[in-house]
Amino acid sequence: MRDWDWLRPHTLNLYEYVGNDPVNMWDPTGYMINGKRLTEEQRQSVLQEFSTITGYNTGFQTDEEGNTQATGLYFDDDGYLQIAEGAVANSDGSTVAQDSLSAFIQDDLDVSLITADPRAPVQGEYFALATAIPDHLSPSPDPSRPMNATFIDFLDFSDKTNFVSKGVPEKAYGMGITLFHEFHHNFTGEGDPKNWQRVRDMGTVTGPAVDFANTIRGQLNLPLRAVYLPINHAGGWNEIFFKSPTTGQKVGSVLLNGRKMKPKPK
Ligand SMILES: [Zn+2]
Repeated sequence: MRDWDWLRPHTLNLYEYVGNDPVNMWDPTGYMINGKRLTEEQRQSVLQEFSTITGYNTGFQTDEEGNTQATGLYFDDDGYLQIAEGAVANSDGSTVAQDSLSAFIQDDLDVSLITADPRAPVQGEYFALATAIPDHLSPSPDPSRPMNATFIDFLDFSDKTNFVSKGVPEKAYGMGITLFHEFHHNFTGEGDPKNWQRVRDMGTVTGPAVDFANTIRGQLNLPLRAVYLPINHAGGWNEIFFKSPTTGQKVGSVLLNGRKMKPKPK
């Protein structure tokens, strides 16, 4: 089933990604992050977020013959995220993010980006604002690696009444860095810590995905997420703390709307 409601970008050559030879080559480099289930507007917002973190642009250039070619990050005609050949990232970007995104794109696993918006009835079903999940909406291309979708609640990242920062720049906790966190789960198969009580007791424990995203935050000189678990507050708010990459001191925290973080009762 390929009847997703997504808008086809009209400026790119359909077969550019197989070197204009679609019969003899089929996706030789992978391109395995798909945004088919996102609206064009959401895909643009994903591109902007990744651009900020990697330093790749999201632009296009037109040659003498009027052919339009991407110069950085883009979604191709089949809805797959790509980095244009020869793309050069600016020096503000994280090299770990650049290398990782490239590796994820070349991975065989097909990871779908899914937003809550088209599935309003299940909004709030998941434990977090974004999460790596088994793909509920289509058969998994590889059942042995089930984390083939990342669910993003776009609503929360744009609605400041649900997502309130206290002294931490949005880049440190926003959708882009969160996607890198989830992609770490998707592509490595590494989960979050299982012993939550121990994490709670130790107070400073992060996990592989938090550590990975922190490496990128560090390269971008952003505050690092200090612990894995949010602290629960009265009124349903959860607080995630951040610390300075240089001093290790707490520099602020982010409040998450707890109603969005509770699994739906079965
Ligand atoms: Zn995680």
